[in-house]
This record gives sequence, C-alpha cells and structure tokens, in this order.
Amino acid sequence: MSAVVPQHSAPQQFASDNYAGICPEAWAAMAEANQGYVPAYGEDPYTDRAADAFRTLFQTKCEVFFAFNGTAANSLALAALCQSYHSVICSASAHVETDECGAPEFFSNGSKLLVAQTEDGKLTPDAVRALATGRSDIHFPKPRAVTITQPTETGQVYTLAEIHALSAVCRELGLRLHMDGARFANACAALGCSPADMTWRAGVDVLCFGGTKNGMAVGEAILFFDPVLAEDFDYRCKQAGQLASKMRYLAAPWIGMLDTGAWLTNAAHANACAQRLAARVAGLPGIAPMFPVEANAVFLSAPPAVLDALRARGWRFYTFIGGGARFMFAWDADPARVDQLGDDIAAVAVEALQAA
Ligand SMILES: *Cc1c(COP(=O)(O)O)cnc(C)c1O
Repeated sequence: MSAVVPQHSAPQQFASDNYAGICPEAWAAMAEANQGYVPAYGEDPYTDRAADAFRTLFQTKCEVFFAFNGTAANSLALAALCQSYHSVICSASAHVETDECGAPEFFSNGSKLLVAQTEDGKLTPDAVRALATGRSDIHFPKPRAVTITQPTETGQVYTLAEIHALSAVCRELGLRLHMDGARFANACAALGCSPADMTWRAGVDVLCFGGTKNGMAVGEAILFFDPVLAEDFDYRCKQAGQLASKMRYLAAPWIGMLDTGAWLTNAAHANACAQRLAARVAGLPGIAPMFPVEANAVFLSAPPAVLDALRARGWRFYTFIGGGARFMFAWDADPARVDQLGDDIAAVAVEALQAA
C-alpha cells in the first residue's frame, strides 16, 4: 500500500474555492446531527430546521430543497421552469452553458439554452429582450426563463438595480428569473444587502444557494419564492438521484452556517482576501486585472513566461477563462499566504522585465 501524500501539509493554494475544507460551523452542525437515529429522506427534524433557517434568513415562506451539487440544483430548477420545447436565456460565460455538461438540457428533456454574448458576462435587459423577441415563430424554442449568475463566473456582482431591471423585462415578456448563486453569500457580502433584497424582492423566482463553496462539505439549497413553481419538485429531485436518504447530513450543516452567520462571515473573509491580492498586484509591470474584483475571484492576465515562472514557484491556478490566471479565495484563505502569492507575482513580474 502506498501512502497518500497529505495535501494539508503542503502550502495553501488558491486555484479554486473548492480546495478548502469544511468550516468549523458546518462541521459542528454535522457532529451534532450525528447522534442517534432520525427518519430518512428528509422527514427528520434537521431538514425542517434547515428549511426554516432559510425562511428566517430570507424573511419569506419559500419552498426549500437540498441537492448534492450546483449542477443538479441549477439543472433541476431550470427544468422546473420549462417544458421541453422552452428555452432559457443565459450569458455565454454562464456555468450552465460552459460547465454543466449539458445537464440543464438533459434534465429538462431538451430546453435549449440561448446564449447572449455580453460585454462582461452579465446579462442586460437589452440582451434578454433581443433574444426573447428575436423570433416568435413555431420553429424556435419558446423563451421561458432567464438565468443569471450572482456573482458571475468571473467575479462580478449584479447590483440590485440591475437585478430589478432584468426582472422587469422578465415580467414584461413572461419569463421566469433564476439565479445561480453558487457564490451567493459572496454577492451578499459584497453588496452588504439582505438575501431578501437580492432575490424575491428584486423579482427572482428561484435561487440556487451554494453551500459547498461557502464552507460546507457538500450541498446546495434550492429556494422557490413562488410555491407554484415548486410543485412536484421533490419527485424531480428523487428521479435525478438528488434525494439524500440520510438527508440530515445535507441539511444540518446549513443550520450551523445560517444560525451562526458563518455563511456571511466566510464570504466576507474570502472577498477581503481577493481585495488584498488585487491591491498587492496593482500596477505591476505586465500584470493586469482581467475583470473588476468584486467578490472572491481575482483574474490576472500576464505573459505566458510569467505564468510559467509562477507555476515554477509552486503556485497552482487555472487559465481556462481567457488564458489568464484565476485565483479564488475561500473561507479559510490565510492572509499571510495571500501576501506570499502577491510577493511571488511581483517577483516574477520584475524578473520578466529584467530579462526583456
Ligand atoms: C461551482 C459552480 C456551480 C456548481 O458546480 P458543481 O461542481 O456542480 O457543484 C454552479 N455555478 C457556478 C457559477 C459555479 O461556480
């Protein structure tokens, strides 16, 4: 038997917010739920309490469901809004379009994604209107829903005014509004607004609230603000393999996250670490931010040799968006390690300048 290399003894990396472990609040709630026996399949007190914690946080009687991951949550939520002949408007960089392996189309039995090429990954009312009204004949899949990612895949945050403007167009055109909130907490922390203001009060019909990137082991919550849309959603989850038999372990961490406020403090910390790196690398030669830093992501463009030199110094990062380096910060990001990254970026930038 070969021993597994203990990654935790290696220095922290910021390649993904999914590299982080479970935060103490979620872990403690899991441990508390790990006593004795309770009914299966969500008939347990933890699941009730978690759903109520969401209703308290969102100040409304929403319908709450739990899924294992974001791909399932998004796909099943969109499927609930659409018939197979409908279509869903999204941005070209939306996770549902680029990173879910066709799951939204699969789980909706074919509802087509209509992709808007927008400037910065944010959908605009004009882009929605153009796609929704460009065709109205029987040969084109009928637009039925709009999905926005808050914050976007590149870390931009829709303002409340922008969400209101989008939902107004949706109402006018008979479209439902879905929000992919894989990093919803980061958006709330960035705007300093309440979850209610960012969702149902702004006209959002369905929210997928990410727990995994917020500090849980696993799990996303799906919130329907219009109960009619949630009809039979439990069957949809079950059929898709998303009904956890030991549901208490998917639900209980949410109690810990929401009751302690860790959902927000975790996100605020992650956002602050992104700001910290952005400030450290501002103005370095050859290094430029690719997007405004508004949540927990920093994207940096740099010459390939500089990125190679950064890798040679042991840093891991992805370049799948626009060829630049992506750094994502989680609840556990160590500010001293963020500073090390900033120092190394500065060092390789200056080395490249001297070599030129
Ligand atoms: C991470 C992420 C998801 C969920 O991805 P899973 O790997 O399926 O959990 C959804 N949307 C966005 C924008 C994400 O970043």
